[in-house]
Amino acid sequence: MKQEIYIADKKNLSDVLNKPKLNKDDIIYLLNLTDEKDISELIRKADSVRKEYCGDEVHLRGIIEFSNYCEQDCLYCGLRKSNHQLERYRISPDEIIETARKISSAGIKTVVLQSGEDFYYKKEVVTNIIRNIKAACDVAITLSLGERNFDEYYEWKSAGADRYLLKHETANEKLYSALHSHQKLEERLTHLKYLKSIGFQAGSGNIIGLPGQTIEDIADDILLCKEFDCDMCSFSPFIPSPETPMKSIPPADLKLTLKTMAVARIVLKNVHIPATTALSTLSPEGRKLGLTVGANVIMPNFTPDEYKDKYRIYANKKTYDPVKYVEDLKQMIHSMGRKIGTDKGHSLKKNY
Ligand code: SAH
Repeated sequence: MKQEIYIADKKNLSDVLNKPKLNKDDIIYLLNLTDEKDISELIRKADSVRKEYCGDEVHLRGIIEFSNYCEQDCLYCGLRKSNHQLERYRISPDEIIETARKISSAGIKTVVLQSGEDFYYKKEVVTNIIRNIKAACDVAITLSLGERNFDEYYEWKSAGADRYLLKHETANEKLYSALHSHQKLEERLTHLKYLKSIGFQAGSGNIIGLPGQTIEDIADDILLCKEFDCDMCSFSPFIPSPETPMKSIPPADLKLTLKTMAVARIVLKNVHIPATTALSTLSPEGRKLGLTVGANVIMPNFTPDEYKDKYRIYANKKTYDPVKYVEDLKQMIHSMGRKIGTDKGHSLKKNY
């Protein structure tokens, strides 16, 4: 009898994996898989979708975390305004541009500028940084500065920025409001829509393992990325920060994180999905695992040494020498039969 049920389940799994379009029930079913063989089948499918839609290239994006000041108070994030234990820093525009040059010299064709929500860097300051980097290096620029004003987004796009990363964090409106006392999900989504409308390649994504989050919520996260036709989507595990009210919440489950990435790849197909730093913090093999379950992007951290320990979004964030790290990454990627992306690795959805 047990055997029959098992066979029935197996049949169902292959049927679901081969459907041209997955609905919410299918996504929930896949996220709930527990049998190791079934999970392996899910991962094999995700890897083949990745190969078909994105090829074997892994795109490297060099990230500069240029300020850890933040106006927001997200309960999960170590950069939150109420964290008075954190020593704050701001990197000068000149040093940001210099670091971008280092990224470009390492052969990386995307510079990601990330910070807390820090209005100290006014519209014109960011515009000048973008213009200077574009003049000095042949790179794409991704901004990840949180929610800023629409006229700022517009000017930065006109100045040459290519992409904007603004994760929706959770598609569950109530959970979103509980975690962000000053923000609403609807506002976040309005920003994302605006960014897309002015021609940014837009990135969104979630955090997995938030307290009270259900499998259904994670299915909604994946479907929201589909509805918004995002160009890149990051599904990353929650890791507690000891300097936040969520310090005692356990970290996300590694398997659930990998299943989410795999299902997201199957549903979203031609999007960029990173194997995140948070994933490699959760597991020493995280980046490699991520690349096997559908990811095609890695973001080596080029934040100068004197600052990077202070960009403490969560605990135990991995730090390393970026140039050596990129060399190690290249070896790992080649050993997996994959290639390093040689162009800017723009969106797979349109010709940029
Ligand atoms: N201020 C910017 C970007 C900085 S935070 C913004 O709001 O977009 C970058 C990302 O770190 C966030 O989008 C969030 O998903 C992630 N993050 C923050 N705290 C985290 C934690 N404790 N565990 C895992 N990811 C976290």
